[in-house]
Amino acid sequence: MSNQKGGVGKTTTSVNLAAALSMHGQRVLVVDLDPQGNASTALATDHRAGTPSVYQVLVDDLALASIVKPVPDMPGLFCAPATLDLAGAEIELVPMVGRETRLKRALAAFESMEFDYIFIDCPPSLGLLTVNAMAAAQEVLIPIQCEYYALEGLSQLLQNVELVRVHLNQTLALSTILLTMYDGRTRLASQVADEVRSHFGDTVLDSVIPRSVRLSEAPSYGQSVMTYDPGSSGAMAYMEAAREIAYRAATVADGS
Ligand code: ADP
Ligand code: MG
Repeated sequence: MSNQKGGVGKTTTSVNLAAALSMHGQRVLVVDLDPQGNASTALATDHRAGTPSVYQVLVDDLALASIVKPVPDMPGLFCAPATLDLAGAEIELVPMVGRETRLKRALAAFESMEFDYIFIDCPPSLGLLTVNAMAAAQEVLIPIQCEYYALEGLSQLLQNVELVRVHLNQTLALSTILLTMYDGRTRLASQVADEVRSHFGDTVLDSVIPRSVRLSEAPSYGQSVMTYDPGSSGAMAYMEAAREIAYRAATVADGS
């Protein structure tokens, strides 16, 4: 889940898609790669200073399995928490051997836990943490906020995806774009949506995430919106987006 803009819905999307898929019986891991630890908070996973986290996995070669925690009351959903230390990793990784592929190696050594989906929630930058995510991932999902300036910075993001593809991860696919914070009452939102669809075609999910106060309230209760308010427009939209993503994965697996 990547977009170097902050506040576009990366974390909200990671947490709620992961919750939705786990509620349909999938085993899902959210790797929190943002030092702010918002995904860890939303998934009620301890990330106070001193908690073993993704930081130790990247910098000290701690096994990923030792930091992954089950999310309370959400069978099948797991979180690898981020602590504030991770802010330092961006610099501490620079002189390290294999600095771009440390997350990839950590995930590869972890296959025994057999997840159906792993979501990596990126920080709002295109630094080494995001490069680690792109080097480890099969797909990039970009949330785009339906606001003015939404497309600014997107070409830089796409260029980064391309660089990672050429140098680190040849099979990386920009598979999915999700329109977030859509306000159907404004013409601007529909203009942004039309523009994104005309540029990116089928990469853009049909499902659109509306603006919904419930989505912004849920994290303060350590919950996804799926359990906080399952009937809300935000919950239903993420459920639908999860269904679309699962369907795409199934048709790719079939070759159909
Ligand atoms: P990012 O991870 O890209 O920085 P977040 O997912 O943290 O973005 O979202 C930024 C803020 O907007 C958060 O306070 C979040 O609760 C809120 N938010 C995200 N999506 C929505 C939405 N669809 N409707 C209303 N608020 C949202
Ligand atoms: Mg975030």
